[in-house]
Amino acid sequence: MIIDHPISYGRQYVSDDDIAAVVETLKSDYLTQGPKIKEFEDKFAAYVGAKHDVLVSNGTAGLHLSALALGIRPGDKVITTPITFVASANGFRYCGAEIVFCDINPDTFLLDVDKLEEILKASPKGTYKAVVPVDFAGYPCDVERIRSLADEYGFAIVEDACHAPGGSYVDSKGIKHKVGDCAYSDMTVFSYHPVKHIATGEGGSVTTNREDLYEKLSLYRTHGITKNPDKLEKNDGGWYYEMQELGYNYRITDIQAALGISQLNRLDWSIKRRQEIANRYNEAFAGTSIITPKVADNISHAYHLYIIQIEKRKELYDYLRTQNIFAQVLYVPAHTMPYYRQFGWKHGDCPVAENYYAHCLALPMFPTLTQEEQEYIIDKVLGFVK
Ligand SMILES: *Cc1c(COP(=O)(O)O)cnc(C)c1O
Repeated sequence: MIIDHPISYGRQYVSDDDIAAVVETLKSDYLTQGPKIKEFEDKFAAYVGAKHDVLVSNGTAGLHLSALALGIRPGDKVITTPITFVASANGFRYCGAEIVFCDINPDTFLLDVDKLEEILKASPKGTYKAVVPVDFAGYPCDVERIRSLADEYGFAIVEDACHAPGGSYVDSKGIKHKVGDCAYSDMTVFSYHPVKHIATGEGGSVTTNREDLYEKLSLYRTHGITKNPDKLEKNDGGWYYEMQELGYNYRITDIQAALGISQLNRLDWSIKRRQEIANRYNEAFAGTSIITPKVADNISHAYHLYIIQIEKRKELYDYLRTQNIFAQVLYVPAHTMPYYRQFGWKHGDCPVAENYYAHCLALPMFPTLTQEEQEYIIDKVLGFVK
C-alpha cells in the first residue's frame, strides 16, 4: 500500500458547517465582544456540567488567569507534572510562583498522586498554594483523590484539561463526571488550538463552579475593568467604568466563538472516532513488544494523543518519517528545560518521567484519519518491530 501524502500526529477538521458559521458572524454586527462568546460559554458550560465558562484568547491565558484568580504571588509554591506542555507551569510562573515538579505514574503518565502526597507530607500544611494536574493525552486525572488531599493540605486545584474535553470518569460513588464539571477541581482549563479537540485557531476557556473565581477570571480577562453597578466604588452614570485590578486583554473574538460552537456540536462524534482508532491500534499491537496505553475501567479517554512506548523510539520516529508518517514525541520533560534548570531542576529529578520520555511516541490520532491511513501506519510500525 502506498500513501503519498504526509500523515501528521494530529490534525484539525473544519467542516462546511463550521465555515458557514464563521461567515455568518463576519456578516453580523459583532466581530468581537458580541453574542457568540456568551453563547459558546453557555453551551460549553452546559456540555461539561459546570456553572460557568470564561472564554479566553488561548489555553495559556486561561492558566495565567487561573493563577491570577487564586491570587498567586511571587514565591508561592505550585505543583505540576513534568510531562505536559510547558504552559501548565508557565501560567503560574507569570505570577512569580515557584514550580515544583512531581514525577508521573508509569502506567497513566499522569502526575503520580502517591508522590504528590509524599511531597505534601514533607512540608507544613498550606505550603503549596495550587496543584495543576494535567489530563495528559486525554486521560482524566484522579481529581477526586487530589480533592481529598486539597482539603487536608489546603491548596487549590487547577486542572489542565487542554487534552481532554469530552473525556469522563466515574468516581468512587459511582457518579459519572465530564472533565470540566469542576466537581473536584476549583477551575478547569481548556485549549482550542487546532491540534486539540475543538479548533478555533487560538482559543481556550476556564470552567468553574465558584462565583468568586468566576468574577475574578472575568475581571482579569478584560484589563481589570468592571461596569457592574454592584462592584463600582462610585457611579458617575451609564458610561462609567472602573479599572480595579491590573488585568489583561485575554479576550477571544466572536468569529472564533462561532467556530467553537460549531465544533462543539461534533465533539462527541470526535471522541467516539478517537476511541475507535485507539482500539484498532491496541488490537494491532497486542502481543508485540510495543507497550500500548493502559486505561482503567472507570475512565472514558478523550485520546488527544495515542502514545506507545517502544525500546528503539528514535529509530522508529526516523523510520516513520521516511514513510510519510509524522509521529511525534510529547513531551520533553519540563523540569529538564534550560529555563527551569536555572531554578535547580535537573535530569534525574523525575526518573519515571525521564524514562517515559526516552520511549514514548504519539502515533497519528485525529477523527478524520481514514481506515486505509491507519492500516498503513500499523503496517509500517509492525514491519519495524518485527
Ligand atoms: C495546548 C496546551 C496548553 C496551552 O494551550 P494554548 O491554547 O496553546 O495556549 C496548555 N496545556 C496543555 C497540556 C496543552 O496541551
